[in-house]
Order: sequence, then C-alpha cells, then structure tokens
Amino acid sequence: MAKIIGITGGKGGTGKSTVATALAFELAKKNKVLLVDMDADCPNDHLILGIERKKIKAIYQRIPKFDLNKCSKCGQCGTVCKTNAIVSIKGNEPIFMQQQCNGCGACFLKCPAKAISWDKKEVGWIYEGKKGRMDFLAGELKINEPVSEIVIGELKDILEKKKDNYDYILLDTAAGTHCDVISALDYTDMAFAVTEPTPLGRHDVELILRLLAMLKKEKKIILNRADIGNKKIIEELAEKYNTEIAAEIPYSKDIIKAYSNALPIKSEAIEKIIHEIK
Ligand code: SF4
Ligand code: SF4
Repeated sequence: MAKIIGITGGKGGTGKSTVATALAFELAKKNKVLLVDMDADCPNDHLILGIERKKIKAIYQRIPKFDLNKCSKCGQCGTVCKTNAIVSIKGNEPIFMQQQCNGCGACFLKCPAKAISWDKKEVGWIYEGKKGRMDFLAGELKINEPVSEIVIGELKDILEKKKDNYDYILLDTAAGTHCDVISALDYTDMAFAVTEPTPLGRHDVELILRLLAMLKKEKKIILNRADIGNKKIIEELAEKYNTEIAAEIPYSKDIIKAYSNALPIKSEAIEKIIHEIK
C-alpha cells in the first residue's frame, strides 16, 4: 500500500506546488508514484510540469428540482436556504438560483407539498496524465461553483481504489487551512509544510502546523527561498511545534529558469526530502 504524503503550506506562493511536482518527479525515477493536485479551485501542477491532461470524469452535485404544478406557493423553502439560493415569497412561485445551491437538502425536507425532487448539475472534473514514469491525477471545480469539497471527496474515492498500485502518493493541497485542505491532510500519513522565512510565511505555516498537530500527523517544514529572509523565525517555530526543517531550498536562478520552462526543479534539497520520506 502507498505511503501518502501531503505537500501543503498555509499561504499561497511559497513554492508548494513547485516542491510537490519536483519531489514526485524525482521519486518516480525509482518508485511507482502518483501525484495528485488537490487544489480544486486553482489546479496548476500540470502547468508546472507541462502535462497534457485528459478529462476522465465529470463530477456532479445534487440540486433541487421544483414541480410548480405541485407548489402551493407557501414560501417556506426559501426560509431554510442558508445560501440564499431560493427566493420564496408567500403567494409567489419560488425562484431558484442553482449557482448558489450547495445541495444541503433543507428545502426538500421543508416543502409541505412534496413539490421538490432531486436533479443534478455538473460542478467539476477529474483529469489524469503522465510525466515520465510518474502518474498524475487532478480535480478541478467549475468556475462559479461553491462546493469544492465534492471534488476532493471524489479524488479520495479514486485514491481508495488506486492506492495499492503505488509506492508513494503525493497530495499537493490548496493553500490555507479550509475544509479542502483539512480533508486532504486527514488522508495523509505525513505532511511537509512549505514556507518561506518571512513574517507572513511564519504566520501562515503556524496555522498549518497547528492543524497537523490537531490531526495527529507527522509533520516537517520545507523552507523555500531559505537564504533571503530571517530563518530564525521559522527555526523557533519548528522548535515550538516539536518538528524540524527537513530541507532548505535556496533562492536560485536555476530554479526560476526550470519553473519558467515547465521543468521540475533540481535541487539538493529535493534529494534530502526524498531521504526524509523513505
Ligand atoms: S438544497 Fe440547500 S442550498 Fe440548495 S436550494 Fe435547497 S436549501 Fe438551498
Ligand atoms: S416549500 Fe414547496 S410548496 Fe412551498 S413555495 Fe417552496 S416549493 Fe412551493
């Protein structure tokens, strides 16, 4: 069964996806590796690696369907809709705005006339691809859809079926500490939090370290652009959360060049991280 490793970071722009893609690509030279882009709102690992993605599945969310012949115009459905997807005024037919619906089902339960049944809408897609020996999977939420958790749930269902086929599965999470990130990290065996030595980097990675502690996950820090800020503030944080800085990636022209040309970065730090994983 695969070891599942999260690559995460409290803040966007720390180089999390650059690290995840480089790590997966290097690991795949001697192991069976699946890289999963779990940033459903803004997946970009395929761009970093120059992968041509293939759409393999559409993802659907349930939405209510109103039978206006049965509707008594009581106005009750709108009163329970927390996302304001229904405008219902007593004496008028309800107006439904499906973009705002999260499929919670409250209106279905509330309707006294049984005028609401279920329909579905497409909210995203699953993609797959390949780079060298590495397999690739990604979820993407459609623009203007509110519920990315459905995409993450779908990816986890696929991983449950695939995980015996790999030595390592790397989950590149979204930035932040919201539901998608929690759901992805909860599925890992260990996680690396990528940050940079700045006050903002320190603040946001602390949130992630706190989250990983709550989830009781093994955690380590990867310090990106390690030579351009105040490293001490991240070292103090590592001590506070009883963890270590597993690798330091310097600010380097070669890395920027590789990134700009859709090539996985090469760095001693990536080798060091691979050593930490094994
Ligand atoms: S399913 Fe929930 S979110 Fe959607 S319209 Fe009904 S109450 Fe609102
Ligand atoms: S709760 Fe049912 S009956 Fe009442 S307005 Fe909504 S759809 Fe019509």
